[in-house]
Amino acid sequence: MQYIIPLLVIAGTIYFVIKLRKKPLAETPAEWDEILEKNVRFYQRLNPNQKVIFKDEMLNFINEVYIEGIGFDLEEIDRVFVAASAIIPVFHFRNWRYTNITGVIIYPDNFNQKLGYEMNVEDRWISGMVGNGKYENQMILSRKALHHGFKNKTDKHNTAIHEFVHLLDKLDGEMDGIPSNFIGQEYVLPWVNLMHKEMEKINANKSDVRSYGGTSQIEFFTVVSEYFFERPKLLKRKHPELYKMLEMCFNPKIDKTV
Ligand SMILES: [Zn+2]
Repeated sequence: MQYIIPLLVIAGTIYFVIKLRKKPLAETPAEWDEILEKNVRFYQRLNPNQKVIFKDEMLNFINEVYIEGIGFDLEEIDRVFVAASAIIPVFHFRNWRYTNITGVIIYPDNFNQKLGYEMNVEDRWISGMVGNGKYENQMILSRKALHHGFKNKTDKHNTAIHEFVHLLDKLDGEMDGIPSNFIGQEYVLPWVNLMHKEMEKINANKSDVRSYGGTSQIEFFTVVSEYFFERPKLLKRKHPELYKMLEMCFNPKIDKTV
């Protein structure tokens, strides 16, 4: 008998927490639809029910992660592109929350290693990065690259999705291009073999995967993930094995949207 009240309290708390986590904190703004339909191919391919879920997940992300524009006034389209990039890689995961990001900082254009972004600073070649040290749990993006990722429909390239996939790779404790949490231990070796085979082709100029994917395992995983989300049909046709492996990683069998 003395356990009943504590048990009720625990059950009530669990129920409340689940409800809170599942329920978006507000209605999604009407202009999101127009922006998503016009620019985000992943969203265009979803059915109406999935589109509602996608927007709810975006809203949850925006409520949990601070997005800041430096040197320009942030617009709704910037927020929509950041949140869409966050949700695309994890859309088929059940009740997913990023635990390793609290803020996204956006500069107008590319920036350098010291986060200099003004026109007069040198070596501004970085378009996106996952921060560390002082910037741990922060993502830094170029606004130009963020927009380019969605507006160019044919280049298999999307900087913001790339950076969010780095965050997923980081989750198993090591950023190594091996998403062992997602594909399962038994597929680690096949993944590594497949990765090295394709990296060799990239570096011999015999692959249509962007050359940056040949620079390291870490970048290979993110570059082919961009390809997977931007041009899935093309990837399936040109690289069926790679497609199958990425499908296993990002579209696990238990699909919350079915
Ligand atoms: Zn990268």
